Amino acid sequence: MSLRIYNTLSRALEAFSPLEPGHVRMYVCGMTVYDLCHLGHARSMVAFDVVQRWLRASGYRVTYVRNITDIDDKIIKRAVENGETIRSLTDRMIDALHQDADALGIERPTHEPRATEYVPQMLSMIGTLQQKGLAYQAGNGDVNFAVRKFSGYGKLSGKSLDELNAGERVAVADGKHDPLDFVLWKSSKPEEPADVKWASPFGEGRPGWHIECSAMGCEMLGESFDIHGGGADLQFPHHENEIAQSEGATGKPFAQTWMHNGFINVDNEKMSKSLGNFFTIRDVLQAYDAETVRFFVVRSHYRSPLNYSDVHLDDARNALKRLYTALSLVEPAAVQIDWASPYAARFQAAMNEDFGTPEAVAVLFDLAGEVNRSKSPEVAGLLKALGACLGLLQDDPQKFLQAGAAGVDVAAIEAQIAARATAKAEKNWAEADRIRKALLEQGIVLKDSPAGTTWEAAQ
Ligand SMILES: [Zn+2]
Repeated sequence: MSLRIYNTLSRALEAFSPLEPGHVRMYVCGMTVYDLCHLGHARSMVAFDVVQRWLRASGYRVTYVRNITDIDDKIIKRAVENGETIRSLTDRMIDALHQDADALGIERPTHEPRATEYVPQMLSMIGTLQQKGLAYQAGNGDVNFAVRKFSGYGKLSGKSLDELNAGERVAVADGKHDPLDFVLWKSSKPEEPADVKWASPFGEGRPGWHIECSAMGCEMLGESFDIHGGGADLQFPHHENEIAQSEGATGKPFAQTWMHNGFINVDNEKMSKSLGNFFTIRDVLQAYDAETVRFFVVRSHYRSPLNYSDVHLDDARNALKRLYTALSLVEPAAVQIDWASPYAARFQAAMNEDFGTPEAVAVLFDLAGEVNRSKSPEVAGLLKALGACLGLLQDDPQKFLQAGAAGVDVAAIEAQIAARATAKAEKNWAEADRIRKALLEQGIVLKDSPAGTTWEAAQ
C-alpha cells in the first residue's frame, strides 16, 4: 500500500506521488520570531517532523523548507520596547527556537530561509502581480492584492468571496478595493526604525506576511511543489492568500497537497495569554521531559484537536515508561526493518494512511509486550527501529527510567544510594533500610541486583 494524505484543498484522502519521482519538496510555515515558541508551535513542528521522517523512511529524498518570519509588526514593537535592533531580537529568538526544537527531537529542516533575506524575490513577485493586474497601489502607498481579480480565491477555504466577506466586520479601509484585499507591500511610516525599511519601485517599505511564504516557497522549491503545511489556523487567510499570490504570478498550481495540523487546547480551553493557560515549550519542559512531550503529541493523530493537561502528560509519561521498560530488559539488536514482517507491515500500513500515528504507536506497545514475554533482542531491535521513525525510544532506557521524572535531583539520589551501600557494607541494616524508606517517600524505588543498585521514579 502506498501513502495517502488528506489534502485540505480537495477535502479528501489522496494517493501521494511527488511531482519529481523519488524527491518530495515540502514547505511548512514557520515561526514569527518575536518571542519564545509555545505549545502550538511544538505541535506543528513535531507533526511535520514525523511527516518528513516517514517520507524518508519510505525511501524518498526530502527537501524540507520551514521559513522564519523575521520582519513583522510584532517584531518591530518588541524590538522597540526592548531598545534593541530587529536583528538582535530575531537572532536571539531563532537560537531559542533551535534549542527548543532540538530538545523535542525535531530534525532541522533542509533550509530555514529568513524572510529579510528574500526581499528582492518578494518584490519581483509583487511586480509580476501588478503587471498582471492582480495588485494595485492604494492611496496610502501600500500595494494590495486584488482578490476579485483572482478567480480561484477561496478554493482552499471552500468558500466564495461573498461568504468570506460576510465574516469580515471591518469596513473597507486604507483605500482597499475589497475588505479581503491584503497587503503585499507596506509603505514605511516615519516613526518606524531604519532597519525595517527597504527601497522598492513602490517606495520605501517592507513586505507583507503572506508574500514572504510565496516568494520563499517558489525560490527554494520551485513554482510547483508537493506538500505545503502549517497549523489549521493558517488555512485562512494566510494559505488562501499564498495560493492567490503564487498562482496569480506563475499561472501554475502552487502546492499539490495542503496539510494542516489540529489545534492544541489546554484543559479543554483554547490556549491564550488572557486566560492564563498559555505555555511556552520551556514552561512545559520544566515539568516534563522532552520525549514525554513529544510522545504526547505523536500518539494523537496530527489532524485531531489535542488537549494538554497534566493528567494527559502524566499518562504519556507512564506509557512511554512501559516502552522503555521493555527496552531495558534486553540489549536491542541492530536491525534493518523488514517491512514484510507482521509488526512492521502493520506499522507501515498505519503510517501510510495519512500518517496514522495512534495505530503506529499501538504497534510499539504490542512489540513491547512481545519483548516482555520473549526477551528477544531482535524484537527489541525492531521496537527501537520503528520508534526511530517517530523520533522516539532512542535514549538509553536506564537513563530515561531514572531521570525522566521532573524535579528529581539525580545527584542527591545517587549520594543516598552510595550512603546506603556504605551502611550495608558496614552491616548497618537499620540505616540502609532507613535510606531506602526515605527515598521511597520521595517516590524513588530502589532495585538491588548483584551488579549494584538502580533506581526509578515511581508514578
Ligand atoms: Zn506561510
